[in-house]
Amino acid sequence: MDGGPPVPHMNKVMLLDLLTVQKVSMLTNAHVQEITNEAVIIVDRASSRKTIIADTVVLALGLKSNDELGKLLEGKVAHMYTIGDCREPRNIMGAVWDGYEVGRAV
Ligand SMILES: Cc1cc2nc3c(=O)[nH]c(=O)nc-3n(C[C@H](O)[C@H](O)[C@H](O)COP(=O)(O)OP(=O)(O)OC[C@H]3O[C@@H](n4cnc5c(N)ncnc54)[C@H](O)[C@@H]3O)c2cc1C
Repeated sequence: MDGGPPVPHMNKVMLLDLLTVQKVSMLTNAHVQEITNEAVIIVDRASSRKTIIADTVVLALGLKSNDELGKLLEGKVAHMYTIGDCREPRNIMGAVWDGYEVGRAV
């Protein structure tokens, strides 16, 4: 919840409550070293390895822009604008807003 744009307060409070209600165990200050067919292997700050047995792994690691196409077209077209997640990963409102701004400018 801290990785992207601010999460609305009400959503954040509700999500944090749900984690407690559902007794979700949380491990912080650790990073994933390996994902095998049966487990996720993590390493904590003290460099100790821990194996977490899992049959399903969902990665929610934050987002990164992919502006490869923009770079490829740079200097090849008279006017080029990068908008939305390609400019900066955010949300639908951010992408629509970018489109609106550029649409008005051209
Ligand atoms: C799992 C997930 C959940 C999300 N949930 C929400 C949410 O609940 N609410 C919210 O507001 N936002 C949410 N977002 C963020 C939201 O989806 C994005 O911010 C938004 O879709 C960005 O719009 P965009 O048009 O910039 O990019 P995209 O929606 O990614 O569209 C880019 C399009 O360009 C195409 N493309 C890429 N390269 C090329 C190429 N070389 N040639 C032709 N086409 C190409 C892609 O296939 C894609 O269709 C979520 C994102 C993810 C990943």
